[in-house]
Amino acid sequence: MMDYTLYLWHVLTHRVPFLWRFHAVHHVDLDLDASTALRFHFGELAVSVPYRSAQVVLLGVDAEALTFWQMFLSLSILFHHSNVRLPHRLEEALSWFLVTPRMHGIHHSNEPAEANTNWSSGLACWDRIHRTFRLNVPQEEIHIGIKGIDTEDRVRLPEILTQPFRDVPEVEAFLQAPKPD
Ligand SMILES: [Zn+2]
Repeated sequence: MMDYTLYLWHVLTHRVPFLWRFHAVHHVDLDLDASTALRFHFGELAVSVPYRSAQVVLLGVDAEALTFWQMFLSLSILFHHSNVRLPHRLEEALSWFLVTPRMHGIHHSNEPAEANTNWSSGLACWDRIHRTFRLNVPQEEIHIGIKGIDTEDRVRLPEILTQPFRDVPEVEAFLQAPKPD
């Protein structure tokens, strides 16, 4: 249930304008690799604290289970942001259970129709259940990032630190793009 409610939180970070401003900092990275797993704005981490606390309290998770899930989640996040290239068949099989790099790469596409899929962070079943799973986009056709923000000078540290506090038309346009039901 921690994993499922994190799926719901991820959807919210793409749909609620205030949350998207912070989560967009993670999505402007032009190149997906394990370091992307660490590129979260501190504001996103801060605004997630009440939600994460509510998850623990309302679900009644004990410390041992929480530690185990947190460890699993950290490894999963490193793995699915990495640029490891796995054989397609292996990835297809793995993606029944875990979020794979190709699966999460589609979520980081600069095409909103592709980015609005694959919201899971740990177990992949939540996307299967909600029919938001997608693995049919060839990796070489994916452009990572947010459409219109495609030069390095837009994603340097000073720019991304201040990004949530500025009106960035490309970030807003991405939020308003049509979404699946
Ligand atoms: Zn996202």
